[in-house]
Amino acid sequence: MSAIDINIHSKTYPAIDQVGVHLAIKNLQLSIKSGEFVCLVGPSGSGKTTLLNIIAKLDKDYEGEITVGRYNAQSKIGCIFQNPRLLPWRTVRENIELVLDTSQSLAIVDELLEVMQLTDSQQVYPERLSLGMSRRVSIIRAFAIEPEVLLMDEPFVSLDAPTARQVRELLLKLWHDRPHTVLFVTHDLREAITLADRLIFLSARPMSVVSEIVVTIPRAERHNESVVEVFRQRLLNDYPEIKQLL
Ligand code: ADP
Ligand code: MG
Repeated sequence: MSAIDINIHSKTYPAIDQVGVHLAIKNLQLSIKSGEFVCLVGPSGSGKTTLLNIIAKLDKDYEGEITVGRYNAQSKIGCIFQNPRLLPWRTVRENIELVLDTSQSLAIVDELLEVMQLTDSQQVYPERLSLGMSRRVSIIRAFAIEPEVLLMDEPFVSLDAPTARQVRELLLKLWHDRPHTVLFVTHDLREAITLADRLIFLSARPMSVVSEIVVTIPRAERHNESVVEVFRQRLLNDYPEIKQLL
């Protein structure tokens, strides 16, 4: 069963000069399976953020249909953006509790803080956090609402390599323990191969699908950088059209 069915005929923005329109997405069809981890890879300005905003129902100004989850209208969608967007006047824990339903147990917050190694920092204010810690808080905040679908828009950009690696591993641990359908946008092909069940390569604007590739490396071997690198080289050889999209 699909968790997300996307059929966008067109998405336009007003043109900057106010003459005509700026076509961002044209005839985009995608199906994401329930529990699948999909990475979207495409050039800057191709329309990836636009697509996530449409799926998150933050943007309803498009032609087409999107179905999310079993119940569609009520499906919970978690979003993780490039910028962690934490409230500076609230502690780490308060930033997380803010998104919970009143009926939800707080036990999940303790559990998520533990997995993300932030238990000792829960009373700290965001200004005291490193970027890697802030990213971990934003991941907890998205998981805390127990969403059916998680949308992640280049969430690990500008982290140094060891920190990005640590946050990716923690994310995979959370995802393994509580499987969600994930749509993860990235420019980094190594990151995409490490994380995804399937890679979807998207064209420059107006965005459409160029290639869909299943990552066949067993998850237990993904931490091995040379295994990921061999797979990456093979992709670039077998699918030369993706080179211009990175
Ligand atoms: P990506 O996330 O892949 O870098 P975006 O979805 O941000 O791409 O943008 C796709 C295209 O739509 C770009 O050409 C961008 O300039 C344009 N665009 C994005 N948001 C707006 C907006 N609010 N108004 C006008 N044009 C926009
Ligand atoms: Mg973007």
